[in-house]
Amino acid sequence: MSETLLQASKEFLVRYGGDAFPNLFRSAKGTIVTDSNGREYLDFTSGQMCATIGHNHPAIVEAVNRAGQKAFHMFSGMIPEVVVELAQTLARDWLPGDLKRSIFINTGSEATEVALRMAKMYTDGYEILALGGSWHGITGGASTVSFASDRKGYGVPAPGVFIIPEPNAYRPYIKGANEEEAALANLNLALKMFDMQSAGRGAAIIIEPIISAGGVLVPPKSFMQAIRKAADDRGMLLIFDEAQTAFGRIGTKTGSEFFGVVPDIMTMSKTLGGGLPLAAVATTAKIEDAIHDKHFTFYTSHVSDPLTAEVGLAVLNVLTRENLVERSRVMGQYLRGRFEELQQRYEVIGDVRGAGLLLGVELVTDRASRSPAHELGALTTKKCFEKGLSMNIRRRPERGSVWRIAPPLTVSTQEIDQAVDILEKSLRESLDETSRKAA
Ligand code: PMP
Repeated sequence: MSETLLQASKEFLVRYGGDAFPNLFRSAKGTIVTDSNGREYLDFTSGQMCATIGHNHPAIVEAVNRAGQKAFHMFSGMIPEVVVELAQTLARDWLPGDLKRSIFINTGSEATEVALRMAKMYTDGYEILALGGSWHGITGGASTVSFASDRKGYGVPAPGVFIIPEPNAYRPYIKGANEEEAALANLNLALKMFDMQSAGRGAAIIIEPIISAGGVLVPPKSFMQAIRKAADDRGMLLIFDEAQTAFGRIGTKTGSEFFGVVPDIMTMSKTLGGGLPLAAVATTAKIEDAIHDKHFTFYTSHVSDPLTAEVGLAVLNVLTRENLVERSRVMGQYLRGRFEELQQRYEVIGDVRGAGLLLGVELVTDRASRSPAHELGALTTKKCFEKGLSMNIRRRPERGSVWRIAPPLTVSTQEIDQAVDILEKSLRESLDETSRKAA
């Protein structure tokens, strides 16, 4: 049956990009994903970075069942009780500063659209500053402010978007005496250029606290503080896209807490739904009041759906009950330690970076040139998969070949050891193969 379905997949599905695996998949539980042949893989990407409390956690299954007893969906003008409970829990236990009011939609892309519409309406501006290497989503507005990849071929993007070069300590555009100086030099130049080009209608700066698709880049704290100031100085709002960083992934409640910088608008998605399509955008009462007075609209079919709100609440409860924010720090340190050990032994591991359980491991041909080892990265990732470890590698000529490693926060040390062993074996075989080919 799996062969027939595989054939059917070629005939009936649109291919939507990314690195698609050669086989089909059937189920997922905890850190394990199972394919059509019953073969198990360690999932070190948490699905598409969403399954932070593990795939199909019993609390999520219960929440779905609970919604089945009550309601999956309602008229968008009817606010389900559980949506209010979720908003209240977010504001009370998770959101920083004055961020108090939330709206609940479905995907990260949609959350970006909400944030941009809020900022434009509040400021009466339209100009947006975004980071090089950023990814905020695929829909119209979101793709306009995304620079990681895939901009070409889709017509005219919305005008008024400007780039701040991403702070990349391993590959700085402008070198400084140290990582901080390099990042700030890039920012200051970008702001000078923006001020020169601006039509005086600034709306927002949007940034992922850790620039993930761009290579798991962790900006220095002073850079994030300077970004906050740059927004304030220009009457623009600061938007944090916390699709990946909120709710424990990086060992803190949020990226905002990690940096000690509070944005005006915060988007949340992947890690809130635990695998179901739930996203949220939070802002202050002041901003929400102001845009409401201007008739702010984001009325969609699935805004405030009770099914996903029930699941979001369950995810937050599990994070608290199982102490997963703290666990992310502890297990993250362990995982990072294992990679640093490998780095001592393998010249091709150029850099290990990240925070909590979101790590970037950059592969180079050699440490002196830092040339990206794209072929080695692709081959090793393929071998990992054949040996039962699912990994994600980001390969861009300008930003190197970087594994983005993000297992569920529930991962065990035994699973980490197993994954690192598979990875080392795959790396050694790939090095042998590539050097044989070169000889
Ligand atoms: N923001 C960030 C930081 C993301 O990583 C992603 C997804 N990769 C998005 C937004 C878009 O989310 P979605 O794919 O759910 O639309």
